[in-house]
Amino acid sequence: METEVNQMKVGIIGGGQLGKMMVLEGKKFGIYFVVLDPNLDCPAASIVDELVVGDFYDPLKIKELAEKCHVVTYEFEHINAEILIQLKTDGHKIYPSPETLKKIQDKAIQKEFLRKHGIAVANFTKVKADSVEDLSEVIESYEYPLLLKSCRGGYDGKGNYLIKSRDDIDTAYTTLGKGVWDLMIEEFVPFTKEISVVVARGHRGEMKVYPLCENIHEDNILRTTIFPARVDSSIEEKAQRLALKTMEVLEGIGVFCIEMFVTRDGEVLVNEIAPRTHNSGHYTIEGCTVSQFAQHIRAILELPLGDVKLVNPGVMINLLGEAGYKGKAKLVGGREALELPQVFIHYYGKTNTAPQRKMGHITVLGDCLEEALVKAEGAKKVVKVIGEEVIYE
Ligand code: AMP
Repeated sequence: METEVNQMKVGIIGGGQLGKMMVLEGKKFGIYFVVLDPNLDCPAASIVDELVVGDFYDPLKIKELAEKCHVVTYEFEHINAEILIQLKTDGHKIYPSPETLKKIQDKAIQKEFLRKHGIAVANFTKVKADSVEDLSEVIESYEYPLLLKSCRGGYDGKGNYLIKSRDDIDTAYTTLGKGVWDLMIEEFVPFTKEISVVVARGHRGEMKVYPLCENIHEDNILRTTIFPARVDSSIEEKAQRLALKTMEVLEGIGVFCIEMFVTRDGEVLVNEIAPRTHNSGHYTIEGCTVSQFAQHIRAILELPLGDVKLVNPGVMINLLGEAGYKGKAKLVGGREALELPQVFIHYYGKTNTAPQRKMGHITVLGDCLEEALVKAEGAKKVVKVIGEEVIYE
């Protein structure tokens, strides 16, 4: 007999905000959650059934997690894929598959794979640069500006360096580890918009594509997501087709997010794939019938995928740690913001804040997007996360 949903034990590698939101959703089904995280006070710690304290690369701790659960998933991609492949061979269920994860972990391998399958990406070259001269030689065939990217480990723009002229090459090379890690050079895309598509794929290959959203980054960190994206229907169709094809060729199971660039001449290029729920998909909690987190659980547990209809248009604003503060975190302005109708505050409960650290988010829905944009400006002004310690520059 199949195990009923409420008897399932799900293991999550990572108890940050994404893991926490997954637990919150899964608890509605009565699922038992075990989380692996190095921090005893990670956001999920206060609500999880069991916490395994350990590093994301520790094979013994990952094995311990897998042995406690029916299914293992993860909230981010910088984890030990090799041990997950081994555990899968030993019969453990791990979704998305560790082989897919391995492909995605290396940006150059990821993009080579996409290119091979006819999915449009920016022009790039993987470089094994043992010296700055090696790097300069490859850069010769590119126009400035261009990006130097670390193939592994980057997030929120960490691991990227914008090279504006020949004078920047040296600093870029040093900043990204002097060739100790694999690097890639990528043409700069003068995009008109950054968009993303959250898409879910189940075990039988069935898929659900969420409404396209539009992302605004500052200092490489996502600040605002507008949903639905303000793009022509032709762009929307292209993006959705690309997302579906990407999921198919990757044989993805679970929720993925595909980040894309829209160019001036209406081209859509895939920039990056996250084999997991994503910050730009937080809007789905209140903005869609079934959230990305509930959908991910449905997909990995072989349950029917849920409806992805937009409830209302709106805006998601990331609550980043306020500049000038660190230490014990405190939310201010929450009461005022909640006076606005259709404003939802998510506070992740991280113990300490730091400038630009992701501490929570606010979702603002409206009967029309314009109304939501105005309310979001109001909410953004009053809600802040500060710390007990003031940083003196
Ligand atoms: P990534 O680490 O690839 O997700 O990049 C982080 C951010 O850097 C993206 O959201 C873009 O804003 C910017 N970016 C990355 N690659 C490029 C590119 N080839 N051209 C222009 N901007 C880029």
